[in-house]
Amino acid sequence: MDTQTSNIETIDITKLREEFPILSRKISGEPIAYFDNAATSQKPLSVINAISEYYETINSNVHRGIHTLSEEATEAYENSREKARKFINAQNTGEIVFVKGTTEGINLVASSFGSKVVGEGDEVIISEMEHHSNLVPWQKLCESKNAKLKFIPVNDKGELITDEFRKMINEKTKLISLVYISNSLGTVNPVSEIIETAHSFNVPVVLDAAQAAPHMKIDVQKLDCDFLAFSGHKMYGPTGIGILFGKEKHLESMPPYQYGGEMIKSVTYDKTVFNVLPYKFEAGTPNIAGAIVLGTAVDFIERLGHENIHNREMQLLTYANQLFGEIGDIRIIGTAENKTCLISFIINGIHPYDTGSILDNLGIAVRTGFHCTQPLIEQRFRLPGTVRASFAFYNTFEEIDRLAAGLSKVKSMFL
Ligand code: PLP
Repeated sequence: MDTQTSNIETIDITKLREEFPILSRKISGEPIAYFDNAATSQKPLSVINAISEYYETINSNVHRGIHTLSEEATEAYENSREKARKFINAQNTGEIVFVKGTTEGINLVASSFGSKVVGEGDEVIISEMEHHSNLVPWQKLCESKNAKLKFIPVNDKGELITDEFRKMINEKTKLISLVYISNSLGTVNPVSEIIETAHSFNVPVVLDAAQAAPHMKIDVQKLDCDFLAFSGHKMYGPTGIGILFGKEKHLESMPPYQYGGEMIKSVTYDKTVFNVLPYKFEAGTPNIAGAIVLGTAVDFIERLGHENIHNREMQLLTYANQLFGEIGDIRIIGTAENKTCLISFIINGIHPYDTGSILDNLGIAVRTGFHCTQPLIEQRFRLPGTVRASFAFYNTFEEIDRLAAGLSKVKSMFL
């Protein structure tokens, strides 16, 4: 298929790819075909350049100085917070906390909010498809509180069994934390429905939006979620920066997660008064460059448009599904009706690592293993791992042709 063909009517994919220098690299003598976007996306020049521009022009510590550089850095940092607020439609910037990423965001909620609301004999609900970063913090919290961690089951297509969820929520449930889009199955979960049910029991809901942020418009007011976390590096931004959204009423009621500079209003030898939101949760010098450049990544996504990104990615997914079907002997793990642009699969009888390394020799980057969802892959689906090809709008139909040819080669070598 022609690499120029795209449904992004206003954007030329070939030109757009030129904004991603890494996509012109060769691996094993072949042009790289990068299908590991769910692990981290590649970065456009606007993001790469914004990092050096920060250090070349306004590098200074934020909120601490009256000198020009510090004021400029603070302004850029706070402008970026405002962009993040708009990006997810939060009510005010006090609800937008800069964190390292999704993992830190969820740990913050588990440690500060979770410790406050979960007690002995209480219950926390997550699902069988959670990333370790939305499982281990709740497991540890429940262990320390003598509380019970319950899992919404997943059917064979990789969808949540919501009828079971309705049976498991009760007056002991104190919190629900759920992945919006599964990183290993691609399932887009019916989070609005779950939030509505949870709220009818007065139970707050945390959303892990790590995979949602690059692929769909998030509206925290419409969703009415209580907390939501995502990472910059999966949405074309830098590593080491992400956002935790929390409803103001919750954040106000929570103790700080860490103590130190920035998060205080005043300190005496005897007592500390904490800062206002969101600074109460931003102890120490933050990742200033990362936070500012997250705003550049938001600009990039908004320039492309969520709908354009979605349409292009769905075209790529449909094309890949068609080719995978033609190859045969491929079992796809995760065939939900509502799915994002990734395919987790195994070629019958062939270990995922073998498939992954042969593809790497052909310049094709896929991920193999548990994808940080070991219980889901090993205990629920009883597999030694899967191969995961996760797409971004900058992938081409020609790259998918190469992936399919690579899989046929793997098949011919082993079967
Ligand atoms: N949740 C999901 C669904 C993910 O895919 C990831 C990363 O792969 C995370 C959480 C953790 O994100 P980070 O490592 O950026 O904190």
